[in-house]
Amino acid sequence: MNIVSLKNVSLSYQTKQGETQALKDISFDIKKGDFVSIVGPSGCGKTTILSIISGILKASSGDILVNGEPVSEKSDITGYMFQRDLLLNWRNIYKNVTLGLEIKKIKDKSYYEYADELLDKYGLKNFKKSYPNELSGGMRQRVALIRTLALKPEVLLLDEPFSALDYQTRLKVCDDVSEIIDNEKKTAILVTHDISEAISLSDKIIVLSGRPAVVKKIFDVNLKSYGSPLKRREHPEFSKLFDSIWKEIQTDEKG
Ligand code: ADP
Repeated sequence: MNIVSLKNVSLSYQTKQGETQALKDISFDIKKGDFVSIVGPSGCGKTTILSIISGILKASSGDILVNGEPVSEKSDITGYMFQRDLLLNWRNIYKNVTLGLEIKKIKDKSYYEYADELLDKYGLKNFKKSYPNELSGGMRQRVALIRTLALKPEVLLLDEPFSALDYQTRLKVCDDVSEIIDNEKKTAILVTHDISEAISLSDKIIVLSGRPAVVKKIFDVNLKSYGSPLKRREHPEFSKLFDSIWKEIQTDEKG
């Protein structure tokens, strides 16, 4: 079943200088439970696509279906995770994780129990009363993911969530995040400029052209049975895919 479906979606930003077309006739489908990455040159429109899927931005034309229904800003089906973890230093980890529940005035105890359970399950059991500045960068990103999951979204929108981390930490956090998303049976859409990261995590990679973004090519990746994202990097198919995607982006940048 397709949980996200874009059909002929275009979007132009209106600015004082005039109109900037960011997306042109974008179409793709995402199956429930899949991990899909969107890659393409900087400034091509990747974040814009996530904003459209979340309902924050309205497309100029085209159809966006999330869970079979036209997207709406009020929907709780999607949850965002950003490049910076945006944890509040004056709230402890438990209070950070449950912040979204407080803001949305959710009283249902099962949500708080789920948040607590996620912290226990993913190595943060002894840190619930700690403050963000006592945690490593990798742990903080895990907290940020759990905060997003606490609202029980079906689809996670990940906007370069690893790019502020150093390389070693990033590889480790990729493994952690992938495991958590698989275990919790979520669909994920990752925006990244890092082709290796996209291949190591995804079932499918959507390659966009430079702005205005059009879908250049969609690659299927079949490396999940090979092991963790870090392990998948060793598979011969990994470097072949890297070359193909790299060429696809390069030809575009040359025009
Ligand atoms: P990416 O995520 O691929 O780097 P974005 O989706 O952030 O790209 O932006 C796509 C294009 O739209 C860029 O050229 C950017 O300058 C422009 N853009 C993004 N947001 C706005 C906005 N609020 N107003 C005007 N132009 C914007």
